[in-house]
Amino acid sequence: MHLKPFSEVTLNFLARDHKLFIGGKWRPGQSDRIIGVENPAREEIVAHVRAASADDLDAAVSAARAALDGPWSRMPPAERARLLFRLADLMERHAIKLAELSTIENGMPLWMAHAKMEGFCPELIRYYAGWTTKYGGDTLPAVPIRGEADDWTVFTLKQPVGVVGAIIPWNSPAAMITLKTAPALAAGCTLVMKPAELTPLLATRFTELIEEAGFPSGVFNLVQGYGDDIGSGIASHPGIDKVAFTGSTEVGKAIVRAASNDLKKVSLELGGKSPFIVCADADIDKAVPGAAAACFFLSGQNCMAGTRLFVEESIADEFLSGLVEVSKNYVVGDGMQEGTLIGPVISGKQRERIRAFVLEAEESGATKLFEGDCPDGTGHFVAPTIFSDVAADMRIAREEVFGPVLAVQRFAQNDEAELLARVNGTHFALSGSVWTRDISRALRLAKKIDSGQVGINAHAAISPETPFGGNRQSGWGREFGREGLDAYFKTKAISMNLGPHT
Ligand code: NAP
Ligand code: MG
Repeated sequence: MHLKPFSEVTLNFLARDHKLFIGGKWRPGQSDRIIGVENPAREEIVAHVRAASADDLDAAVSAARAALDGPWSRMPPAERARLLFRLADLMERHAIKLAELSTIENGMPLWMAHAKMEGFCPELIRYYAGWTTKYGGDTLPAVPIRGEADDWTVFTLKQPVGVVGAIIPWNSPAAMITLKTAPALAAGCTLVMKPAELTPLLATRFTELIEEAGFPSGVFNLVQGYGDDIGSGIASHPGIDKVAFTGSTEVGKAIVRAASNDLKKVSLELGGKSPFIVCADADIDKAVPGAAAACFFLSGQNCMAGTRLFVEESIADEFLSGLVEVSKNYVVGDGMQEGTLIGPVISGKQRERIRAFVLEAEESGATKLFEGDCPDGTGHFVAPTIFSDVAADMRIAREEVFGPVLAVQRFAQNDEAELLARVNGTHFALSGSVWTRDISRALRLAKKIDSGQVGINAHAAISPETPFGGNRQSGWGREFGREGLDAYFKTKAISMNLGPHT
């Protein structure tokens, strides 16, 4: 099959000195730690990035503070919007080159990365750009203490929460950086961004586009580095007002502990183990490919992946044989290869972790119903795998694998309570979907699934307008939509006594 070459522009980009962006200037990181960026499909180091030191982080926070106190806060919202619209246009204009960087460092197929750069990411930026001129506080019909209505005017101001430290994972670099940047800047906050050590490159190019769009110096600062120093440095930094984090539940907890020092605001988008529930009356022609996509998309490295399939007993055999057939289409390979549907997983370490889950599932008595093909030899490839006869207490049914591994359980027609007990029986509560033609049953189940969002005859139906986030150990707060913007504001109530009566 044809392996598309990387463009000259991308190869030149890789060879560059990759710097930090602090206070509007590019400067080399001062740490002696150097990140070697690997192409996970080829196990080749494609670039080196020098990490930031603690002093670099301090400088980035100071620059963000100065911008917040300076030109950024004085800028009319319509001008902030204009800059964001320009950033969205730039992403679109450079979509294919940005996509190449995503494929190189993350492994995802080029067509998928390209679709994100042309569609999802710029649309998300534009969605939040639109809010800048429309979002504000309320005037309240309040009469504090005592007095008459005419004596008082009470209103709320929405003020940016301040300097935001954003810490993001590697599984979808462009979506993650956009999702943290757009609402924060729309709200008038400033940012110190730390990408995942495994995917620093797309973030560097994105930062260049921020610069080109013309945001004032210090509004957006890029610090590269490792979680255990720059990440934890952000979480505990006294100059940062809010930490916006996406990543694992374990690191989320560490961030909460570090941020408790000065009680900075924290938003957390964490792991998931989302249910995909197929009722006997579902449209099988849609539900079967839906189930495969829900689990295997992004090689399963997707927080909302539908990794627990619950299928109603009476259709289970038919459904699963259809699922196996569809799963055979999931061609695993290099993201630059035509026809690849899923790329490698991010690293050798992740591949070993996934393999250990698979081995343990087999040993604990689950049936390996399907294991797809994947390239041997070089590349961190993992074959899509389906386990049936999974018991609710097996690790494969409870823990996040973050790989293309599906765990199937069956349920009886007349026991929704028992089904829901299993569905809600993990400590994650992020996403889920119900597949049925019976709207009453769909809504009854949707209301009782403990999660931030539920799809009906769709899984992972995300959009800029729709709030997204987790309950329980899947996180704090919501991103996307109006709620996602609100998380970057603090509310101030102003009560004016205008009358003679108090
Ligand atoms: P991770 O290990 O938690 O890393 C996420 C980010 O946190 C990285 O930038 C990492 O730096 C940094 N970090 C690591 N230790 C830190 C510490 N002690 N203090 C502060 N920052 C620290 O997660 P991952 O393995 O990269 O990503 C996979 C996880 O993300 C999965 O659990 C997945 O479900 C979750 N996820 C959730 C969502 C959602 O929206 N809910 C979306 C995508 C992914 P390094 O790169 O140096 O490790
Ligand atoms: Mg990590």
